[in-house]
Amino acid sequence: MSSDRRPIATPPARLPVVAIDGPSSSGKSTVGAEAALRLRYRFCDTGLLYRAVTWLALERGVPATDTAAVVPLAAEVRLQADPQGRLQRVEADGRDVTTEVCGAPVDRSVSAYSMVPELRAALVGRQRDIAAGGGIIMAGRDIGTVILPDADLKIFLDASAEERARRRAAERGAAPPEAERILDELRRRDAIDSSREVAPLRAAPDAMILKTDGKTFDQAVAAVLQEIRKAERRLAGGNRAADGGNRPAVPGEPHGR
Ligand code: C5P
Repeated sequence: MSSDRRPIATPPARLPVVAIDGPSSSGKSTVGAEAALRLRYRFCDTGLLYRAVTWLALERGVPATDTAAVVPLAAEVRLQADPQGRLQRVEADGRDVTTEVCGAPVDRSVSAYSMVPELRAALVGRQRDIAAGGGIIMAGRDIGTVILPDADLKIFLDASAEERARRRAAERGAAPPEAERILDELRRRDAIDSSREVAPLRAAPDAMILKTDGKTFDQAVAAVLQEIRKAERRLAGGNRAADGGNRPAVPGEPHGR
């Protein structure tokens, strides 16, 4: 495996497990994915799992209140790796629905589905299996608090609702009335995600809080990379985890579930 990292004589340390949590459009997915690309880590955007289940539920007319029908949908969605090995594509109903799961209908409904405790429970083991082995950045709402409480590094990426709405509107090329709607929607989703009883959006006590207001994308990526490199050094006992020996190539989620 080629690497730009300096070889060391001692065996490479395990690479860190990195949790990045934060509210909608705080940049955790884009910043996390870019940091993973630069470090040749794996990346998993766990929001896609909740989005995929929500999309499938909407397709099939299953309301969030019908727990018995919602939970089995989790087994029908699968994350697939993009060409860089980042789990950023979603399959459901036997096809790629990555674009669909990021649409407005799913935006509006996903918080209602993701507050179903039984659905969350069904997804815990899957997320832990994906993170096993290290060399991964996993992004979500409850990664540092519930899914990976022993993560080597926890980052809570935050920004004001206005800043986040502005970024999302720019991403979507939205005009002013649409931008207003995006801000309202973000606030509504933040409120539900933060106040739900199970796994609310919250920074873990040992998370490093990184505010991205006024930071460019590159600056946010640089700040995250700096923290991950520190975590690598801590794990390697002062040496750098140098040769990337446990950077696995992952085509999709582990099989058999
Ligand atoms: O991160 P993203 O905005 O795509 O997440 C969509 C929704 O999925 C969130 O609003 C939240 O309700 C849910 N989610 C969650 N726990 C996670 C990731 C996402 O509840 N770890």
